[in-house]
Amino acid sequence: MAKLPPYAVRLIDLPAHRTFEVPGQLVAEWLKGLPMRDALGAPADDANAGYGKADLELYADGAHVFAVGTFQGHLHVACSRCVAEARLEIDDKVRVTFLPKHELPDQEEPASADDEGVEVNEDDLDVFPYEDDHVDLEPLFREEFVLAIPYAPLCREDCKGLCPQCGTDLNSGTCSCEAPIDPRLAALKGLKIPS
Ligand SMILES: [Zn+2]
Ligand SMILES: [Zn+2]
Repeated sequence: MAKLPPYAVRLIDLPAHRTFEVPGQLVAEWLKGLPMRDALGAPADDANAGYGKADLELYADGAHVFAVGTFQGHLHVACSRCVAEARLEIDDKVRVTFLPKHELPDQEEPASADDEGVEVNEDDLDVFPYEDDHVDLEPLFREEFVLAIPYAPLCREDCKGLCPQCGTDLNSGTCSCEAPIDPRLAALKGLKIPS
């Protein structure tokens, strides 16, 4: 019998209550290539990249498999203002459906659907395909981490960022750079703006 992937559950074992843990090294691997993660410069197998824990009820209705429960954890990315480590929390309710791959709608170009895993389009975010005799929860767990990263993560809400001129971290120090003069303020002060 072929070895199952680490986050797989065999259909024959359903219904089942399962818990899973995602270690930091795997979080690091999954987030590799994302700019806010790479900006930290952490090692590829960073055990401190994050952690996840899933607590799921899995059951089947015909060929449809459902996973319902919770996913909790955290991850570390770079703050978008100061590039220090920002910790992001995950506390999510899970409610997803696994469909046999051939049942997924609109696989218009089967040739390209095969190259980089299966793309789930935006309307079907909570639907995952499965094949053979098991569902694999890994794409779901991976998505929990990727979707937890906002457009501009912050180490704290009022992060002061880095001085744009000298790079001093303004959270922990000050610098003597002059703030660039806002042309509108300069006009108010009656200054001539060279053009
Ligand atoms: Zn920051
Ligand atoms: Zn400065």
